[in-house]
Amino acid sequence: MHKPFANNAPSGDLTARSLRSVWHPCTQMQHHEQGNDGLDAMPLIAVSHGRGAWLYDTDGKRYLDGISSWWVNLFGHANARINAALKDQLDRLEHAMLSGFTHEPVVALSEQLAALTGHRLGHCFYASDGASAVEIALKMSFHAWRNAGLGDKQEFICLRGSYHGETLGALAVTDVALFRDAYGPLLRQAHVVMSPDARTALEGESAADVARRAAAELEALLQQRSQKIASIIIEPLVQCATGMAMHDPLYLSLVRELCDRYQVHMIADEIAVGCGRSGRFFACEHAGVWPDFLCLSKGISGGYLPLSLVMTTDAIYQAFYDPDSARGFLHSHSYTGNPLACRAALATLAIFTEDNVLQANRTRAAAISAALAPLAAHPQVAHFRQQGMIWAFDAVFDDANADADAARTFARRFFAAALQNELLLRPIGRTVYLMPPYVLDEGEISHMAAATLRTFEQVMARA
Ligand SMILES: *Cc1c(COP(=O)(O)O)cnc(C)c1O
Repeated sequence: MHKPFANNAPSGDLTARSLRSVWHPCTQMQHHEQGNDGLDAMPLIAVSHGRGAWLYDTDGKRYLDGISSWWVNLFGHANARINAALKDQLDRLEHAMLSGFTHEPVVALSEQLAALTGHRLGHCFYASDGASAVEIALKMSFHAWRNAGLGDKQEFICLRGSYHGETLGALAVTDVALFRDAYGPLLRQAHVVMSPDARTALEGESAADVARRAAAELEALLQQRSQKIASIIIEPLVQCATGMAMHDPLYLSLVRELCDRYQVHMIADEIAVGCGRSGRFFACEHAGVWPDFLCLSKGISGGYLPLSLVMTTDAIYQAFYDPDSARGFLHSHSYTGNPLACRAALATLAIFTEDNVLQANRTRAAAISAALAPLAAHPQVAHFRQQGMIWAFDAVFDDANADADAARTFARRFFAAALQNELLLRPIGRTVYLMPPYVLDEGEISHMAAATLRTFEQVMARA
C-alpha cells in the first residue's frame, strides 16, 4: 500500500543506480563504494517511504529519524494534515512569479509570521534554501546602510564555529573548517569573534559569564571598526553544525545592546533553531529581543519543500522604499514565494496552534531527557546538554594514546551502528546529537533512547 511505484526496485538496484548517477551532498562518494581508514564502506540507504518518525528502506528495514532528516521535518513523514493542504493547493496554483503577482498562501504566511513577532518583523522576503536567506540578509543589511548614506559599512562579523550555509556569501560567514577550507581563496574575509559556547567556561565561570566575556570581545572589535561593519550574524542559542554548541540567552541581549550602541545590524539565523526547536517559536524570544533580520528555513515547510525567508523591520523596509528603483532591493529567485511551499508552511503553522505544540513539546522533552538519563550519567560522556528539542553530548576518549584513531572515526562508526539499531543519527565529530520530529510517542522515545545508548556502548567498546 505504501509502494509509490509499481516497480519498487530492491535496494541493491537503487543504491547502485544512485551511485552511478546521483552526486550525494556532503559526501566523499568513494566512501560509499570502498572502505577506507580501516572502516567499511558507508551504507547508502534507499528509502522507499516514510511514516511519522520512521523512514523505511526498500528492504523493509526501518529507522527512527532522530535528526528530522537534517533538521527539517517537524511533524513526521507523510503527515496527513500537510499532505491534505498540499493536495488542495496543487489543484489551485502550483506556482506563479512573485514579481508583479501575489497569492493567498504567500500573503497569509507573511501575515502569520509577522504576527508571531508581534509585528516587530513585519516584512517577509522569500527564497528557497537556507543559504539564500543568509545571502539576502547580508545583502539587505549592506544595502540598507548604503541607502542611509553609510556605504562604508561593508564588513560582517560571525562567531567562531558559525555555520550559515555553503554558497559563497554564506560560506564567508561560516567558520567550520570542513566546509570552508577548500574554498577559502574564493571567500570575502569576515571578522570571526569568540563563541559564547558554554563548554568553554573557565574554572568557576557560569554560562552567563562566558556570554559576557564573548560580548566584551565583540565590543572591542566594534569600538575599533563599527563604522566599517554592516552586521553581525549569529545562530541564537545553539550553533548547530559546529556540534550543537549551546550558549546562555544573555548573549543575545548583550549583542542586541551592542548592535544598537554601535549602529550595526543583528542578523539572527534561526534556520535550524527556529520553528519551535529551541522551546519557543523563535529562539530570540528566550532573551526577549528581536534582531533586525531573522532567517528561517528548514522546519518552516514541515520538511516538505524548499522554502526560506528573511523577516525584517519596518525601519529596514523604509530604507528601500523610494521612487528610485536602484534604491530597491534588487534580488530574486525563480521560485520566490512558491505557493506549494508556502501552503506546506501554513499547514505546519496550523499544527502548532491546533496541537498546542510548544506546550506539548515541554512534556515530550522532559520525557526524552528522562529516557536519556543513563547517557547523561555515562562515564564516557561529557557536556550532556539540552535546549528545547535538541540534545547533545560529547564522547570522551583518552587522547593520550591509541584512542586518537577511534575518536577520528567515531562519527562514521556511530552512524553505521545506529542504523543496525533502527535509528538514524549522524554525529558531528565526537558530538552525538538528537533532534527528533515533534511527534515521538512514549514507545518511540524509549526506542530512541535505548538505541542511542546501545549504539554508544557498541561503538565505544570497539574504540
Ligand atoms: C542548514 C543551515 C543553513 C543553510 O541552509 P540550507 O538550506 O542547507 O542552505 C544556514 N544556517 C543554519 C544555522 C543552518 O543550520
